[in-house]
Amino acid sequence: MEVTTMSEALQLHAQILKLGTSNNDAPRNFSKLFTFAALSPSGDLNYARLLLTSNPALNSYYYNTMLRAYSLSSDPTHHFHALSLFIFMLRRPTHGVPAPDNFTFPFVLKCCARLKLARQGKQLHGFITKMGFGSDCYIMNALIHMYSVFGDLGVARELFDRMPDRDVVSWTSLIDGLVDHDRPVEAIELFGRMLEAGVEVNDATVVSVLRACADSGALSMGRKVHGIVKEKKRIECKCNVSTALIDMYAKSGCIESAKKVFDGVVDKDVYVWTAMISGLASHGLCKEAIDLFLEMETCNVKPDERTMTAVLSACRNADLVREAYMVFSDMKKRYGIEPTIQHFGCVVDLLARAGCLKEAEDFMNAMPMKPDAVLWRTLIWACKVHEDTERAERLMKQHLEMGVDDSGSYILASNVYASVGKWSNKAEVRELMNKKGLIKPPGSSRIEVDGALHEFVMGDYNHPEADNIFVKLDEMVDKLKKEGYNPKLSEVLLEIDDEEKATQLLHHSEKLALAYGLIRTSQGSKIRIVKNLRSCEDCHEFMKLISKIYQRDIIVRDRIRFHHFKNGDCSCKDYW
Ligand code: ZN
Ligand code: ZN
Repeated sequence: MEVTTMSEALQLHAQILKLGTSNNDAPRNFSKLFTFAALSPSGDLNYARLLLTSNPALNSYYYNTMLRAYSLSSDPTHHFHALSLFIFMLRRPTHGVPAPDNFTFPFVLKCCARLKLARQGKQLHGFITKMGFGSDCYIMNALIHMYSVFGDLGVARELFDRMPDRDVVSWTSLIDGLVDHDRPVEAIELFGRMLEAGVEVNDATVVSVLRACADSGALSMGRKVHGIVKEKKRIECKCNVSTALIDMYAKSGCIESAKKVFDGVVDKDVYVWTAMISGLASHGLCKEAIDLFLEMETCNVKPDERTMTAVLSACRNADLVREAYMVFSDMKKRYGIEPTIQHFGCVVDLLARAGCLKEAEDFMNAMPMKPDAVLWRTLIWACKVHEDTERAERLMKQHLEMGVDDSGSYILASNVYASVGKWSNKAEVRELMNKKGLIKPPGSSRIEVDGALHEFVMGDYNHPEADNIFVKLDEMVDKLKKEGYNPKLSEVLLEIDDEEKATQLLHHSEKLALAYGLIRTSQGSKIRIVKNLRSCEDCHEFMKLISKIYQRDIIVRDRIRFHHFKNGDCSCKDYW
């Protein structure tokens, strides 16, 4: 009897009970029933567990299958069930319960990782070593994965280095962990070593390393990975790989290449569409983004939450107030998607940008959820840009009184006060920030030159060509001053004299990266810089002027968006 639904499974169960255990087919039928309930998407984990509980003397295959099924579930309750089943196996209260074996541990480790139970995970590691399973490849892989999830990358690395035979999963787990914890440059290095070692990559590896390329702006490595993908037809046709490629090209400023990948995907899923729509939106190609969304509808692909965020941000970037409202009100009615804070945030941002500050404030106050710090800052920033200082100050006070402990909010407050010349308030904010022990995260910028990534932090003297860079910067400032450039000293947080402020501004990481780009790249080629924070006003002005004086296209991706500087203007139209 074939089993494809739970009701067929129940029939089979009834048959097993009727015929009794002495029947020849009984073991085979029971195994079929159990495997279906545990592993089929239309099965039932609770039912499978019941089968196991009522027959505790089943062999380890059943226990391990149950654990595997729990570890694959997205429901955290099931991960807890896995741990309790494992403990049951350890205690063996009833006769015949199998002891854990080498297949048991990977699933249990995976559940510890998913539940973020670091202490229990480490205990389990100790136990595994004691039991003599410490060198099993599958278990080692699961341990590397678990420690990567916990952010214990040092331990993960140590385990990895100790492994006598690493397979593709070992490499991918560590690469993935590095990317997840914001260490994309090391992830790319490791991937390079993996290629040298001749390990066959799979789609998971490719997706991880492409994320690393996107995060760090390593375009040439991204292209190289694309080349590898093209050679492997088995990987090339996978939607998750296409999505990662589109995302990588879009984030590296090559929207044309992203489009080419997108056009080549035969069977596009919602992730592929969403990656392309949000890529277009982030490049300011908002009409194209919205058109693509309409095309997606005609292809009968159902949008998800992220698609809607991408569409709303396209509307936002193009100041399409009416369209955004329409999309927003359609979300629930038409697609059954409950708006999240990201969606509300897009609308607040859109209204605020358009200068409808009162409407934006009212909309934020009427939200069903509490606005987060990002949303507060978005609105306050808009008030600052539209020079509604009264509102900016009032909102700022309200926001800080709520006890925020995010350095970004204090930095914004300091900027708001500085821009209206309220120096004593600015000093107060600064003091409060120190008292709370908040420090501004260090800004860093990356630029790729001849396939190698160069990373700069503020006032970076560590680069081998630091001397040349600072000479170049002086030359750039001289030329800029002739064009009427005045450093925006209000961007500096510290209470120091003006001359020192000017020097600090000049040494912002993106300016260092830009100077290096001008030294090392040829006239006519684009300069691409990736910055981890929002660009300051002074750097923005600086880039604009340099693009004109040196006749170079400069593309900066900051934490918020892309800036294409060309001939003295920026694609963001000075709003970011
Ligand atoms: Zn700056
Ligand atoms: Zn800009």
